[in-house]
Amino acid sequence: MAGVRRVIPLTLGWAEVPYSMSVYGAADDVRLREPVPALLLEVDGGWLLIDTGFNPAFVRDPALCRRFHRDTGVEVWLPAGDADPLEAELDRVGLALDRLDAVAVSHLHNDHAGGLRHFSGRQTPVHIQRRELDHGLGTHPADLEADGIIRVDFDHPRIAWQVADGDTEIAPGVTAVLTAGHTPGHQSFVVELDPSVGGGGYVFAFDAADLQENIDEERAVGGSIGVSPEATVEPIRRLKAIASARGLRLVPGHDPVAWPALTTQLGAPPARDPLRDPLPDR
Ligand SMILES: [Zn+2]
Repeated sequence: MAGVRRVIPLTLGWAEVPYSMSVYGAADDVRLREPVPALLLEVDGGWLLIDTGFNPAFVRDPALCRRFHRDTGVEVWLPAGDADPLEAELDRVGLALDRLDAVAVSHLHNDHAGGLRHFSGRQTPVHIQRRELDHGLGTHPADLEADGIIRVDFDHPRIAWQVADGDTEIAPGVTAVLTAGHTPGHQSFVVELDPSVGGGGYVFAFDAADLQENIDEERAVGGSIGVSPEATVEPIRRLKAIASARGLRLVPGHDPVAWPALTTQLGAPPARDPLRDPLPDR
């Protein structure tokens, strides 16, 4: 069976968030600066992108920023200028949007789904869990926004959705695993490398486990929809079991240390440093 040839972590910005947003019960007044993760995978058949970052218009435009990011407790950093963060990161690895053969989203939070508009009107399939899409397109928009889900990020009639019901192989060597809890249809990804590049691989938790400590200490994540916070530990245990049974490395989604370290280790262009380019004033 063919596996994944190349794994390229991308960082589509940074978000400063309360510690309690990533770890249930942690301090509200301690703030963490976390990377906004995405992944490029070279698979048999082309390039697969997983997750798409923030919609930059909702961060950079003062009125839209007030509309969508006020009172969330999240401070978003995007590279200066008016470049699109997804296109800019793809550009750094020498790939244009139209070279992508498939897209997947872990879930519909605005730091993961904000680039989906790029795929409206393209043939590119966009993989998502049915429960996540049904939740996002449901009839409770005010509740969605309170939970960080911005419907205009993904409510495009011309996105070529590929909807899954549970664990599904979405490309050779890439299996989406339903890890509901953080959101109703959150999915994580098992990535198995081709023997020609040494085999082994990764389990990318995304927001099923923001931080390394969510994994190591089995601490519940800070945000959950439809379940108790404690119920977000079960998917973490399941991912740990998959990783250990197959000898794969489990990678948290937003860890300020683990994500940049993996990026460097895999030889991808290092994440841009927000400390050298401060957060814009609001
Ligand atoms: Zn999330």
